[in-house]
Amino acid sequence: MLARFLAVSSLIALNPAFISCAVAQAAPPPKDLTTSGIAQHGIVDASGIWPTTTIDVCWRSKATLYVAEKQLTKDAVTSNLHDNIAGNRYSFGDVWPPCDNVKKARIEIIISDAQAYSNIGYQTSGTGYNRVGVPTKVFLDFTFVKWNANCAKPTYYRTTCIQNIAVHEFMHSIGFLHEQLNPDLPKKDPYCYSIYKGEIANDFHGVDPIIITSYDPDSQVNYCNNIYGRPPKLSLKDITTYKVLVAATLTRTRPTPWGGP
Ligand SMILES: [Zn+2]
Repeated sequence: MLARFLAVSSLIALNPAFISCAVAQAAPPPKDLTTSGIAQHGIVDASGIWPTTTIDVCWRSKATLYVAEKQLTKDAVTSNLHDNIAGNRYSFGDVWPPCDNVKKARIEIIISDAQAYSNIGYQTSGTGYNRVGVPTKVFLDFTFVKWNANCAKPTYYRTTCIQNIAVHEFMHSIGFLHEQLNPDLPKKDPYCYSIYKGEIANDFHGVDPIIITSYDPDSQVNYCNNIYGRPPKLSLKDITTYKVLVAATLTRTRPTPWGGP
């Protein structure tokens, strides 16, 4: 059941224009996410590693709604988390249909004008031999009226917001935790830490968190990295971490923690 914790993993860049808006409108994380008794921090949640590299994706919305935004989302996710990765990688399918009512392991996208967030990785219900896969839910905002209003316009900026947030949330959906949880942040970037330390304390820290790389200021899942206003891009360390997740999926082996410099 632990893996079913809903991880609040919203996207707020270190951009003063965003902070005032996004923080003010961000919902506080559910209380049960802040407990779990885990003192560690992490980059990936090993309990959320997918058992297969092929992951179906579907939309929990009417097929006729947001056609252009859905295509932007799919293109950004496919190019950044599949096409641009060499070697073994996750596949998200050629067609992202409307979701049927079957409750199974896959990524289900819910469109909502609210804070974007995602479950962290593969989700299950039940325990022991009764443990079964259930949907990993990704919530995306396309209108930016009630949340992240700076993303509403102009068109290019809105486009990059949709794409960057989609890639960020999909990274969560395959097991990435926020890079600002890295315990080296206070030392590496004390200014950013001072801004986000409250959110960091309340963020979901994973069921089985593992640090894969040294602190990465350029990560697509790091609030200290302003990812807006340009196309989404995984950093080199993001790609390293992604490859570790894929390898863990293929070998069914818990990733090896980063050993230090
Ligand atoms: Zn996030």
